[in-house]
Amino acid sequence: MNGEDRAALASAVKGTVREVPDFPKPGILFKDITPVLADPALFSRVMMALAAPFEGQGITHVVSIESRGFILGAPVALELRAAFVPARKPGKLPAEKVREEYALEYGTDALEMHADALRGAKGVLVVDDVLATGGTAAAACRLVEKAGGKVVACTFLIELLALNGRSKLGGVRVESLITY
Ligand code: AMP
Repeated sequence: MNGEDRAALASAVKGTVREVPDFPKPGILFKDITPVLADPALFSRVMMALAAPFEGQGITHVVSIESRGFILGAPVALELRAAFVPARKPGKLPAEKVREEYALEYGTDALEMHADALRGAKGVLVVDDVLATGGTAAAACRLVEKAGGKVVACTFLIELLALNGRSKLGGVRVESLITY
């Protein structure tokens, strides 16, 4: 996909994402990607655009963050012929796990991954729908390292530039299709 096609796609996606004020709490402008998912032609182009920068980059595993990250990460993994690995909210995975906590505005949350999920991994791509403050993606990157993997890049459908989430990702390559 050339730069012009990517720009046209970004503009189509921006016109389709629904912005919902004050969800899930006052002051948050929620970016609702469900209208993008409901348009198969657009969703398919989004998936190709998310995967394209990483063709031939040695990605063996795609780690996605529960839950909207799964929707994007699974097709990106298939496109890259890489293993799909879910990073889940606590208590969901059945086998031996690694765990990383991260700070929320009030309190903490955590992500878990199966301890053997990255066995044999060479390069890992982390996928989520939105990069906001970066706390969630940073925890996912730490989780990858804990499980013995190496993060090659993080990719997002949407990046909220004002929150500077990139700064939390320690210089790792970051791609996003659309920015606000
Ligand atoms: P953060 O840890 O602040 O980067 O937040 C990232 C996580 O929260 C992602 O998994 C997103 O799904 C979700 N998120 C944060 N801000 C928004 C937003 N404005 N609209 C939709 N999802 C968001």
